[in-house]
Amino acid sequence: MVKQRSIFAFFLMLGVLIVAGSFLRLTNAESQEKKQTNEEQALRAFAAMHPIDVHVHVFKTDAAFQAMLERLNLKLMNILVMDDTLPYRKELEPQIKDALALMHSSRGHVAFCTTFDPYKFNSPSFDADSIKKLNRDFADGAVAVKMWKNIGMEIKNADGKFIMADDPKFEPIYKDIAQYGKTLMAHQAEPDVAWGPPDPSDPSWSYYQENPQWFLYNKPGFPSKQEILNARDHVLAENPKLRMVGVHLGSMEKSLDNISSHLDRYPNFAVDMAARMEYLIMAPPEKVRTFLIKYQDRVLYGTDLDLLASADVQESLKEWESTYARDWRFLATDETFQSEGRTVHGLKLPQPVLQKIFHDNAIHWIPGL
Ligand SMILES: [Zn+2]
Repeated sequence: MVKQRSIFAFFLMLGVLIVAGSFLRLTNAESQEKKQTNEEQALRAFAAMHPIDVHVHVFKTDAAFQAMLERLNLKLMNILVMDDTLPYRKELEPQIKDALALMHSSRGHVAFCTTFDPYKFNSPSFDADSIKKLNRDFADGAVAVKMWKNIGMEIKNADGKFIMADDPKFEPIYKDIAQYGKTLMAHQAEPDVAWGPPDPSDPSWSYYQENPQWFLYNKPGFPSKQEILNARDHVLAENPKLRMVGVHLGSMEKSLDNISSHLDRYPNFAVDMAARMEYLIMAPPEKVRTFLIKYQDRVLYGTDLDLLASADVQESLKEWESTYARDWRFLATDETFQSEGRTVHGLKLPQPVLQKIFHDNAIHWIPGL
């Protein structure tokens, strides 16, 4: 009798486990399906904004890529960078030629942000040459000019000192950009973590593992982050007619208070969110929401996504779309979800604020887009 009862209990338990197991599988499949629906819904809502991503690096064109731009009603600003560690980015003219070709083949979906060659800083004709080329690029349709972190962190003057953004030699270039009504996209300094100590929990950490030349911890002789940003701020103060977008949250990714005080102090300053959304995701949601509502006219949407010449386009497109979906879900919905090991709490920003961040601010701060 006892034995029969325990056999009965065993089968009862087994039955419960089977039912529970299939129920779990079902909810799992459901949540998988729900996530996909959310991603598709997110991309549809994102596309309805006619979004502008002001910060991408596109090195080739492709039919599938163009189709994505059209499907998402997406406009991009393709930013050129001079980087002497990469063969392609070492030379300016081929980059300009490719960017113009991309712009012309994109049916209005890709705009072009040119740059000047800061590695020629020590040439006596640096200013004149740079201005001549910039003005040519403006005539060809460039809407903005990029200045990169190699100013402040890499290039040295004839005396062997790091050149800074407020070097008098840059002043005629700033005046020229302002005079032509173009926008300076300024990437000065790096996230705090670049000055150390090592912090694997920081969203930018993996970048320094792959690009150790920019990791300055225990490397004496480099300027501090504060010195570099002070030079940038000096440019803002000295050139009130120059519109500057501090890319990557103006390299103040860990302090919304610091960004706020800069936006308060410099009416000619705005920031883009490129490659720094994770810092906003990690910050207290209410604080980020309050900040974005207060400064709804001063924050531009950008990602820093790239399409390398060597890229597998299908793989890249997956990354582009999942980034856009994540950013939309974070900014526009009240969903809570997981993204690359982080919990994201959606901010559900008001529709007019989303309209500004995803579209209007780009047009306002970068006329001609
Ligand atoms: Zn970039």
